[in-house]
Amino acid sequence: MDRYSEVTNKNIREIVLLKGYPCIWGKCSFCDYISDNSTLENEMNKLNFEVLENVSGKYKVLEVINSGSCFELPKATLNKIKEVIKEKNIEKLFLESHWCYKNKIQEMRDFFEIPITFKIGVESFDYEFRNTFLNKNAKFKTYEDIKKYFDSPCMMVGIKGQTKEMIDKDMEIVLNNFDHATINVFINNTSQIKRDEEIVKWFREKYKFLDENPKIEVLYNNTDFGVGD
Ligand code: SF4
Repeated sequence: MDRYSEVTNKNIREIVLLKGYPCIWGKCSFCDYISDNSTLENEMNKLNFEVLENVSGKYKVLEVINSGSCFELPKATLNKIKEVIKEKNIEKLFLESHWCYKNKIQEMRDFFEIPITFKIGVESFDYEFRNTFLNKNAKFKTYEDIKKYFDSPCMMVGIKGQTKEMIDKDMEIVLNNFDHATINVFINNTSQIKRDEEIVKWFREKYKFLDENPKIEVLYNNTDFGVGD
């Protein structure tokens, strides 16, 4: 499992994949990566500290991810990240959180004291698809709700059951209303959810222009950021 990498395509940054406590929700129908969660605090901190030693600060931007929300990282790990930020003169952080922590986002921004691009797993702005089919438990109504707390939606495309119209609408919302977004093209995993090859092919053709858009990062593979397995 690679836990340190550099994203050199767009928004150049260092990225670390740390270990956290179990995802507070843990029931999204498409998710099988919560197997990286742990309850062994000392072991998590030991591993996370080792991974964080790789951070050089060369790009002054760091992204920290875990299989869940940043609020599930142990306190000592959060303190260590803050230490690394100071030591390596990091000026910007990318973090991610589930919708349910929305009221704690400002707390995290205050804690780190540098600008944070806060990502959120939106998957789709289609309420039913998101909450019933994907079981995301992110019950906001519009993109404006998201923007009150978060900066950057993470979207999912290429799932059997998703329609081209839904994707078109999602892309329109993302392109017109956010300064940053990540589009994950779904890869089959151990969950029951299946990839729709036809819709992926259509998306790759129709939205090829996103490859040139500096605001939008499209992940055709889960490991395109260089971390994970
Ligand atoms: S919130 Fe994220 S980590 Fe938790 S179950 Fe859903 S997709 Fe998986």
